[in-house]
Amino acid sequence: MTHDEATSLRDLQCGHLTRGDEGRRVSVCGWVAKRREHGEHLVFLDVRDWTGVVQAVVPGSVDVRAEYVVRVTGTVSARPAGTVNERLATGQVELTDCEVEVLNAAEAPPFPLDERTEIDEAVRLRFRYLDLRREPMQRSLRTRALINRTLRASLDAQGFCEIETPLLWAPTPEGAREFVVPSRLHPGEFYVLPQSPQIAKQLLMVGGFDRYYQIARCLRDEDLRADRQFEFTQLDVEASFVTQDDVMGFVSRAVAAAAQAVTGEAPEAIATMSWAEALERFGTDKPDLRFAMELGDLTAAFAGTGVAALAAPCVKGLRVPGGAAFARSRLDALTEQARALGAKGLAWFKVGEGGLESPLARHLSPAEAAAIAALDAPAPGDLVLVVADEHDLACRVLGALRVTLGAPPVGEGPYRYAWITEFPMFEGVDEDGNLVAAHHPFTMPVAEDLERLESDPLSVRSQAYDLVLNGWELGSGSVRIHRADIQSRVFRALGIGEEEAAARFGFLLGAFRYGAPPHAGFAFGIDRLSAILVGEENIREVIAFPKTQSGTDLMTGAPKAITARQLRELRLPAPAPRG
Ligand code: ASP
Repeated sequence: MTHDEATSLRDLQCGHLTRGDEGRRVSVCGWVAKRREHGEHLVFLDVRDWTGVVQAVVPGSVDVRAEYVVRVTGTVSARPAGTVNERLATGQVELTDCEVEVLNAAEAPPFPLDERTEIDEAVRLRFRYLDLRREPMQRSLRTRALINRTLRASLDAQGFCEIETPLLWAPTPEGAREFVVPSRLHPGEFYVLPQSPQIAKQLLMVGGFDRYYQIARCLRDEDLRADRQFEFTQLDVEASFVTQDDVMGFVSRAVAAAAQAVTGEAPEAIATMSWAEALERFGTDKPDLRFAMELGDLTAAFAGTGVAALAAPCVKGLRVPGGAAFARSRLDALTEQARALGAKGLAWFKVGEGGLESPLARHLSPAEAAAIAALDAPAPGDLVLVVADEHDLACRVLGALRVTLGAPPVGEGPYRYAWITEFPMFEGVDEDGNLVAAHHPFTMPVAEDLERLESDPLSVRSQAYDLVLNGWELGSGSVRIHRADIQSRVFRALGIGEEEAAARFGFLLGAFRYGAPPHAGFAFGIDRLSAILVGEENIREVIAFPKTQSGTDLMTGAPKAITARQLRELRLPAPAPRG
């Protein structure tokens, strides 16, 4: 305890009473967690605040029920022999001879706050203020605060300056749908809530703040998932006169400090692997390195195969330890999953003592069978799954099956971080024939690839890098384009014409004409990092007031209709009545 927890109403917090306080007359404040009558003249109250529970023995009668807010003044006493509660931090002592002052009455809560009973999430979200009073949410949010504080301390120590950027902003092209805010003073015009402070932080670099950070709220109007909310929080970082390695160093140090603050252990040095290697070995750019099961390559062995189902530009295999025991229904489910991911099919081979067992086994040449049997050192009792297809698809499908078959829950340690580098600059081509940026359009191509930007754009790599933890993408960043001529070429490649670029990002391109330093940055999701470090699968567990999967706030009822007057002021039409 580094601060004085005493206030005008209390001397200390409920969970902090110890034998050392014996004999003191003290006041604590909190909620009544439980009451028990002891004969006619003694009431036992458990009084709770976030630090713990203390037992208060009250002579006579007292009119309190569960969740009443009380101030209890009593004498710290050792519990009589035989009544010590080892499970409670304060279990050695109790407050005796107590006076109880009711600070507020409470209705019976809709669910018990003490027990670790599973409560339906909809009920928890509707009464979030009560859910927050419970131990798991207290622990989650306090852990998150510790993470924030440690990240700040690390970046401050590394010479970064914390700067806030606007929430009412102009559109930025980062790929997600944006929330828009109508302007009352400029009817028909809109602000956009930032997907991230991306452009603002680049302008800060032009402004001479060579190391910036912010714990920034970002907003994206995208479908919600376990690891995604409309609004989320990023540790946003940008620095000038740096390379990719410098930025990865800043971020690695900050993340390691936060992880150590929570778990008590410094994470091991973070592995770095190129995007191509991650795809090849793990079938994803978010490899979960907590378990092995690496993909193997069978392309050469099947180059001239006579098995039509396995004739393809790429043949990849995945060894599943113990998988020979899978029932047919399980293999069918995996095949379904592979198909849903775009594969034409999934071949499976059980590795038995006497050779491979599979509907396809008798069609294989001896060399092909040997290659499958030898894949990634299989042992009898294993299963080998094979996908033959285009390279990326074959890798991705097996990468997904690898996670299905091998990954522990995301929040389960050990924590395995990885930096993924050398992403392709473009993800592909959209319906209009325009290239799609893999990161965002301010990302600098790898210098030696720049000359192919117009002639062979899909082969251009970018100076982008992702940080991955236990199979979750924590965040991404890149070296930025700091020259207006290269930025114009990239906009052109993305199908953003001169005029559109001038209209949307004229201010950025303008800024680049006045001496923009080379710069690079990164942003990672604090919601995700916090969820993983507290061992939760869903980021809602580390957010005080999250939205449901369908984007509603069950407590406030948002989103809601606004009044006719507000609509008029914004010059927005009244919505058509619901039919
Ligand atoms: N602005 C990017 C994002 O939100 C991160 C970065 O490039 O710094 O994903």
